[in-house]
Amino acid sequence: MHIHRLPALSDNYIFVLHDPQHQIAAVVDPATAEPVLQCLRSLKANLVAIFNTHHHGDHVGGNSTLLRHFPQAVVYGGAQDRGRIPGQQVFLQEGDTVTFGDRTAEVLFVPGHTRAHIAYYFPPVLPNEPGELFCGDTLFAGGCGRLFEGTPTQMVDSLSKIRALPDQTRVWCAHEYTLKNLQFALTVDGTNSELQDRLMTVQAMRQRAESTVPSWLGEEKRTNPFLRWDQPELQTRVNSQDPIQTFARLRGMKDQF
Ligand code: ZN
Ligand code: FE
Repeated sequence: MHIHRLPALSDNYIFVLHDPQHQIAAVVDPATAEPVLQCLRSLKANLVAIFNTHHHGDHVGGNSTLLRHFPQAVVYGGAQDRGRIPGQQVFLQEGDTVTFGDRTAEVLFVPGHTRAHIAYYFPPVLPNEPGELFCGDTLFAGGCGRLFEGTPTQMVDSLSKIRALPDQTRVWCAHEYTLKNLQFALTVDGTNSELQDRLMTVQAMRQRAESTVPSWLGEEKRTNPFLRWDQPELQTRVNSQDPIQTFARLRGMKDQF
């Protein structure tokens, strides 16, 4: 399975999954249709699936146009997004699986950013390969999504599911927010030397206009404050010993940053 990362709108990423052997493709969160259609043309691939993580316009905006070009494509989304995702035909819950070519993804129910948000996790086929996680606006490189429809408790539960995945997982998040996220992270986890190094690396990458997505989940576990609600340094920083409250206070501070 090849993964193509397409920039869209101001800071979104659309991901095209390509199975060259079967000349098929799938798309994760098509913000707009045009870059996807262009990519499919150059790959000479037939679109068989649209995998949506949640209903926001910058994730489903291309669904209808893509369906006009590929009427046989199947639109997947969360069960609780029924009525909110254009063309949705499959209503997924925690533990469901979806297939693309000869790969199978596990569905994680990860509410918090929205009440219906899901993520797609493709485990590695061979032991030394990475897993691939498409997590929409739940986990970002160096950050996490805003809580529009969910509570801190739900988001911690959702991020806990992601944190339980192997370090050797590539995190394909839907926005290029990494630099700002890490600048915030340093204000709450300033003594974390791996975080300091990561910020420098990302600053240099952004100066060269390089993408910082995907990131490695192992690095997120060690440097992303929104996966570190149980670390004493962060709890001390926000004056709490409660993991949920720690997370909630960090999220609140980021909202104001
Ligand atoms: Zn969103
Ligand atoms: Fe978004």
